Amino acid sequence: PEAEDIPPESLREQYEHLVDEIRKHRTAYYQNDAPLVSDAEYDALYRRLEDLEALHPEIVSNDSPTQEVGGEASAAFAPVTHLARMYSLDDLFSIDELRAWYAKTSASIANIAPSAAEKGVRWLVEVKIDGLAVNLLYRDGKLVRAATRGDGTTGEDVTHNVMTIKDIPQQLAGSGWPSEVEVRGEIFMPSADFRTFNEQRVRDGLAPFANPRNSAAGSLRQKDPAETAKRPLSMFVHGIGAHTGLDAESQHATYDLLASWGLPTSPYTKIVDSLEGEGEGEGEGGSGKDGNGGILGFIEDNGNQRHDLVHEIDGIVIKVDSFALQRALGHTSRVPRWSAAYKYPPEEVHTRLLDIRVNV
Ligand code: NAD
Repeated sequence: PEAEDIPPESLREQYEHLVDEIRKHRTAYYQNDAPLVSDAEYDALYRRLEDLEALHPEIVSNDSPTQEVGGEASAAFAPVTHLARMYSLDDLFSIDELRAWYAKTSASIANIAPSAAEKGVRWLVEVKIDGLAVNLLYRDGKLVRAATRGDGTTGEDVTHNVMTIKDIPQQLAGSGWPSEVEVRGEIFMPSADFRTFNEQRVRDGLAPFANPRNSAAGSLRQKDPAETAKRPLSMFVHGIGAHTGLDAESQHATYDLLASWGLPTSPYTKIVDSLEGEGEGEGEGGSGKDGNGGILGFIEDNGNQRHDLVHEIDGIVIKVDSFALQRALGHTSRVPRWSAAYKYPPEEVHTRLLDIRVNV
């Protein structure tokens, strides 16, 4: 975008209006689990704010939504300070944006770690689970605390609620776990369960949830854990926070370790070595099923089958697999530089329930 000729007072006004609007939607989404607009509409507002700030860097305030992780903790739950900060992800809304991110990240790696770049970077691609982020703290193999992401520094204490979810071990299995480890992942409501659950709500005269994400968030964030226990919630873990020593050098090796301790890892992940894969005429022709399809092949395959997975997805997460490279690339105040989320174009959602009424 090009700088427009907006008078300074109306620019400031426009900016503040946009910030207020985004804050209002964040409260509805993160605290009330009841969004007022679709994710695509929210994303468009957020993108407008980013564009405005790019054109007029002098107006950016330190507490702009673009500078912080969205979702401050609600006062309804005790606050928990995460041992290591939790981050959001940069969104890529088109294949062109993905290509630009891939080129920029590859160039940074070539610059800071030329020998690693020469050997070839391994990229881990995963589906982006449409749930809510939770941080599990294990001490001596025992689950002692669970918290929502909140603003990334402070989350909400949902320990008792999380303890009712059968997928999440209260005692780690196997051996070799460190005395302290934070395990991060996404709590979600499986798509099939979401449909039955919402239909039952309608029969009970309750408003259905807008989508499985809000349903999972609303179900987890109940004041009474006995209520959460009745809700069909699951989890896949996709990262670690603070720990006292872990025998893994990469993201995918960490998943193997977490799985060996009985933690639920996603079946929908894959290592690839480039954006494009090997393409036509080589291997199986870039189908993505054989390691040849690259990041783009994974995006295409999962786009085609996105409604056949256990849970809803709203995109694909791309991660640099090596921990050494992750450390070298680092973070901004809001997101890691070694990962990004490609978002699929919004779909028209049509379910019988949504035609009736969309609410909490
Ligand atoms: P995000 O949801 O786009 O991405 C970051 C999150 O993705 C991480 O915190 C992580 O928990 C999650 N994630 C899922 N699968 C993952 C995987 N495999 N690996 C790593 N992380 C994974 O960013 P955000 O800051 O949480 O929120 C922004 C999103 O929330 C946008 O999609 C936006 O549309 C939506 N939102 C909507 C409204 C609304 O009013 N409709 C309001 C606020 C936010």
